[in-house]
Amino acid sequence: MTTHEAEADSLRLAGAEADLLRLAGAEAEAQRRDAADPGHRHLFHVPPAEGGRYPETAYFAGNSLGLQPRATRTDLLADLDTWSQIGVEGWFESQRPWTRYHELLTGPTARLVGARTTETVVMNTLTVNLHLLMVSFYRPAGERTRIVIEDAAFPSDSYAVRSQARFHGLDPDETVVRLRPRAGEDTLRTEDVTAYLAAEGERVALVLLGGVNYLTGELMDIPAITAAGRAAGAVVGWDLAHAVGNVPLSLHDWDVDFAAWCTYKYLNSGPGALAGLFVHERHLGDPDLPRFEGWWGNDLATRFEMAPVSRPPATADAWQVSCQPLLAMGPVRTSLELFDAVGMPALRERSIRLTGWLEQLLDEVTADRPLTVVTPRDPDRRGCQLSVRIGVGSAAELASRLRYEHGVIADSREPDIIRFAPVPLYSTYHDCWRAAEALAATVDVTKPA
Ligand SMILES: *Cc1c(COP(=O)(O)O)cnc(C)c1O
Repeated sequence: MTTHEAEADSLRLAGAEADLLRLAGAEAEAQRRDAADPGHRHLFHVPPAEGGRYPETAYFAGNSLGLQPRATRTDLLADLDTWSQIGVEGWFESQRPWTRYHELLTGPTARLVGARTTETVVMNTLTVNLHLLMVSFYRPAGERTRIVIEDAAFPSDSYAVRSQARFHGLDPDETVVRLRPRAGEDTLRTEDVTAYLAAEGERVALVLLGGVNYLTGELMDIPAITAAGRAAGAVVGWDLAHAVGNVPLSLHDWDVDFAAWCTYKYLNSGPGALAGLFVHERHLGDPDLPRFEGWWGNDLATRFEMAPVSRPPATADAWQVSCQPLLAMGPVRTSLELFDAVGMPALRERSIRLTGWLEQLLDEVTADRPLTVVTPRDPDRRGCQLSVRIGVGSAAELASRLRYEHGVIADSREPDIIRFAPVPLYSTYHDCWRAAEALAATVDVTKPA
């Protein structure tokens, strides 16, 4: 080691040690906040840690797969018992008849997304629902063919819209418009989206954006963009995978045409759980709207008449196709009951406090390291996720070290983002402290403190 290198090394140590000392003082503050603002962690199974000093993981991946509610197993077993006890009669005669089981999910879902109960249904999985909705709502005609998405769209959405363009005989490279942040910026500006729609709206058939972006955690201005898209004559749909259960939604009042979301992220309904969709009231019962049909989209009152032509109800249930996967519905029911019991307003308030605390700690750690928080600073422009860009090294490797050396579960997204989602239902202030401490201990300081 040269003298110069040794000097740099001792500076680095001094910086890292100073950070760790400052953070040590913050642990008591985290514990104080947890006592005052405890959340509902006791209702969930928290995975044991695979490394570090604490028995439980500090779990920040609820934006990818939410934790399992303790009640899920019991509720699921009760549904299995119906099957073992009465077999096929379960469709009509059980305590929760399977033909109507999805209706138990409709009320709480509607409350969560700000919809009328006629406007939502839980079925299929997210990308499948996006396709079924685009069958109805992406109808390119004449010059109006474009689909507007964000450049940082989740890949499944990107593949879905490109394949829809192809399905209509259009070139996806020309049809799909990807809106990018301005040079040097990480997130989209609402005014840039609305300006595009004002200028090019005549050519836009469909706007399909993520309500909260999966990568940056940016919460879009859903009402403003919806209004701008509709004023331009386009249909406006939202992918709410990262928004539902994370931020308050008023889809009906915001005049959104349609939306879809999964329930395995913030809604904690389990891996591959059923998804939800929303269709605005003004489209319900419209006989001119194309839909791909199956017998489950036929009104229950006449479904078992086995008639050759479908008679769909004037509700979102008309978008159902197949017999529902009933054993997958219990976990959604259990989870939605939790959201009903706690309420989105209280969750959002705790979310803002918890995320603000994580941000404050990350600010200390990122100041002298090659790390940058790319999520908007304004709590009104984000949910609970903070995304950190890694300037040096691999995000995947860092996530792995956080997990195995510190018991902190965050996830990495290519090429250089690591995501932390303190989930207001079950994450703690101490979890946030552990994340910051683990980052400080793992990532080298690059400039003298
Ligand atoms: C998680 C996520 C998906 C996943 O789609 P599936 O069909 O459930 O596999 C799609 N789009 C977005 C925006 C997501 O965040």
